[in-house]
Amino acid sequence: MSSGIGAALLDGLRAAGPREVLVHGGTRLSGDDVLGMVAAAAARLAASGVRRGDTVACLYGTGAESPVSRIAALALGCRFVHVWGGVPVEVAARAMRALDASALLYAPSRRAEAAPLLAACPVRVRQALDDDLYSGPAAGPVTTPPCDGVSLATFSSGTTGQHKIVAYDHAAEAAHLAAAQAMYGTPPWRLLVAPRSRYLPDMFVIWTLAGGGTVILEPDARPAQLAETIEREAATHLMAGRPVDLYALAEHLEDAPADLTSLRLIVYGGAAAVPARTARAAGRLGPLLMQNYGTSEGGFLTVLEPRDHARPELLMSVGRAAPGVELRVRAPDGTDLPPGEVGEVWVRSPQRMSGYVDDPARTAAAVRDGWARTGDVGRMDGDGYLFLLDRAEDRLPGGLYAHPIEHVLTGHPAVLDAAVFALPRAAGPVLAGVVVGRDGRRVDLDGLRALVRRALGDRCEPRHLWRVDALPRTPGGKPDKAALAARFAAGAGAPGRPPAP
Ligand code: AMP
Repeated sequence: MSSGIGAALLDGLRAAGPREVLVHGGTRLSGDDVLGMVAAAAARLAASGVRRGDTVACLYGTGAESPVSRIAALALGCRFVHVWGGVPVEVAARAMRALDASALLYAPSRRAEAAPLLAACPVRVRQALDDDLYSGPAAGPVTTPPCDGVSLATFSSGTTGQHKIVAYDHAAEAAHLAAAQAMYGTPPWRLLVAPRSRYLPDMFVIWTLAGGGTVILEPDARPAQLAETIEREAATHLMAGRPVDLYALAEHLEDAPADLTSLRLIVYGGAAAVPARTARAAGRLGPLLMQNYGTSEGGFLTVLEPRDHARPELLMSVGRAAPGVELRVRAPDGTDLPPGEVGEVWVRSPQRMSGYVDDPARTAAAVRDGWARTGDVGRMDGDGYLFLLDRAEDRLPGGLYAHPIEHVLTGHPAVLDAAVFALPRAAGPVLAGVVVGRDGRRVDLDGLRALVRRALGDRCEPRHLWRVDALPRTPGGKPDKAALAARFAAGAGAPGRPPAP
């Protein structure tokens, strides 16, 4: 039993006291303001019949009102289902039913989504995250009662096209916080984040508040706006998002320099980086970049430190095990492989999920003897740096791996981004790829295929290579290779010529 993250949040807010902790547009809330809102919301929900041990679901928004609702749920001793934008109604309803939710909260911006969700899963208490909830009287001082079992359920980003419902307990949430603080430096931080309807940016908000710090929620994620907000708010930390978001910011700053001297750290990750663009970003931003690799199931797995970004050969790596994390590369039979050999990445960590909600078979397949499989294929070098090669399920014809080929393609100065994939054909899948040209530059597709041939051998040369304006991406920001295969399967013709869309 532990009150872990809840107690840390209350400590952080009390330590901040009259200092501002949540900034969103014109709203600037102090630690005391947030504690007052939490007390009011807890009293209001308790009066509506929400009890300790209940499950509260929330259509989480991108403003200050949403993290406050999580703290109120912790103050009531309730489990929380964090429904970020983009999670299908039926998946959210399944989680609510499985955890027997008694309340649905919703950010005002997501009011329209509440009705279909309530139709699919009716609950006793329905409440918008508005003044009605947050400005009523408090019932007494706020505490966070200890509770065991699941404390939080959320949804994986749908890499495989399916949103899985992932549950954590308090100990795992406390371990996430501890890992974040070990990696990102002693709190308090002044963190800038542009929440984009995903789970991880919201967690950065919770961790910052738990460290007594200040979160600046920037609704406009365009690079110019981010740069201006960093300067104006003297942010010390930036949660930049996916690698492509980091690159957009770094490339904007090349043309429009800004004063970023307040920044101590820029965190990015969650999808495969493009080493050439990371190098360029590191050149522009200096020793501020930190990359994380993680999964919904395992939490943080690795960290590529700022100093690692100065070593070009490490920019293809996702770094070394995050604090408190053990990593292994294993053969299909589950035996550990020595450094340099390729296999599936497994993780053992206190951050690991307790399981998939309502899916013991899938949980049993993903977790064995305390170790969780990641579905990622990679190799580790003798110093513990992990190099990811592909997703296990995305395997290319001939047992090839995508990332090394993509790295050769994106290493060419005319190429901004690339993805290779298995193209279904009647005689069996063939290796195909797409490239995105840099700044509208002409891309010599035959030259690129020859480049891959020279670097990696004939087998790795894509049989078909096309130019596209942008890579399609999953809601979680990963290249959508299933969409590419489906799009190009129909009309795959002569190399270099895109089939009709
Ligand atoms: P999800 O659980 O939906 O957040 O997706 C986790 C998956 O995203 C991992 O298994 C990796 O395939 C991918 N991923 C996350 N972070 C990174 C990273 N830094 N580099 C490459 N792939 C990543």
